[in-house]
Amino acid sequence: MKNNLSDRTSKVKFSPIREIFDLASKTPGLTRFEVGQPDFATPIHIREASKSAIDEGLIGYTPTNGLQVTREAVSKRLSADFGLEYDPNSEIAITVGASGALYLALRALINPGDEVLRPDPGFATYDEIIKDADGIPVKYPLIPDKTFSVDVKVIESLISEKTKAIIINSPGNPCGNVIDEMQLEEIMDICEKHGLFVISDEAYDKIIYDQKHVPAALKAKDKYNVLTIGSSSKNYAMTGFRIGYAAGDKKLIAEIVKFQSLSSICADYVGQKAYAVALFEDQSETTKMVDEYNRRRQYFVSELNKIAGFNCSSPDGAFYVFVDISEHNPDDWAFTKYLIEQVKVTCIPGSSFGDVGKGFVRFSFATSMEVLHEGIEKLKKHFGTKLDS
Ligand code: PMP
Repeated sequence: MKNNLSDRTSKVKFSPIREIFDLASKTPGLTRFEVGQPDFATPIHIREASKSAIDEGLIGYTPTNGLQVTREAVSKRLSADFGLEYDPNSEIAITVGASGALYLALRALINPGDEVLRPDPGFATYDEIIKDADGIPVKYPLIPDKTFSVDVKVIESLISEKTKAIIINSPGNPCGNVIDEMQLEEIMDICEKHGLFVISDEAYDKIIYDQKHVPAALKAKDKYNVLTIGSSSKNYAMTGFRIGYAAGDKKLIAEIVKFQSLSSICADYVGQKAYAVALFEDQSETTKMVDEYNRRRQYFVSELNKIAGFNCSSPDGAFYVFVDISEHNPDDWAFTKYLIEQVKVTCIPGSSFGDVGKGFVRFSFATSMEVLHEGIEKLKKHFGTKLDS
């Protein structure tokens, strides 16, 4: 029997973070900050929508590009919130999460050997999906001293003949950085100048503090030079529903839909019904969640900065703090393991998001104030405070 695996399997890696999850699952008494998903229950009206979809009993395949009602809901939300117009019939596809949209977009865009720029630190999955599409990931650094902003000149210096596209992510995982309007314009300018396509991962677009999200497509001279990717997961605490979307040029959307027909046929019916309600109905539940993240952010960042050898800037979006722990140990993997085993607190090693993350760790504050408080107390007790030293 020829059950030896394809060459492709050795090209793509599982996330190294699994090692941390394994260690954490074996260690009792942990205060956990590694998880990147909302701790809130999905708002009740969204859950009710999914229940009525089941009660209707008409759960079948949906059109490959998604239910009409869900595409219309995405279109209306993008228009109402940002003044960004996409035709729900041809320019929007509902996908299996933002992950699905990213994966299918790279399949549709990348030829073997094409280079794709991605942020460092950045969502580690980017590298693997680029490689799986036979592309080559090229990391552009975010600048730690400047709250992980992009340096457009550095990005431009990394563009080669082979560069096909750039992935941008704002608000960003793992640093919570937000690309400001001026930088977005500069990025769009260099992309136009060098003929680069922009994949804009906006999965956290509603989780932003003290400012309003600006979609990259709004800053492009031609919005069809950008693929906007969004998700139900974080905005509406719907990670398990697995619904996201891609919005952009109709030719690209058609190809994304073609590849979706091969991989999953369509996104889940119940999830799409629930997401349509999440998008159409009033947004106050999301506002409440974001207010609570903001309260936690203020507490957590200020308390982390009091701990000896812990230094972090305040994130402008998402629910992560990226903390410089290099005074304790420049090896963030060893530090993370030490934290789990000796301090009973979990986090994610920064270098798992790229080389710039070396000497940093990511804490998620998508957890209750009580848990944040417990973790801070453990860290203070173990490492002492800056006032002590
Ligand atoms: N992009 C980023 C930056 C993320 O952090 C995540 C999930 N952690 C995703 C995309 C994927 O989200 P989804 O659940 O919609 O697939």
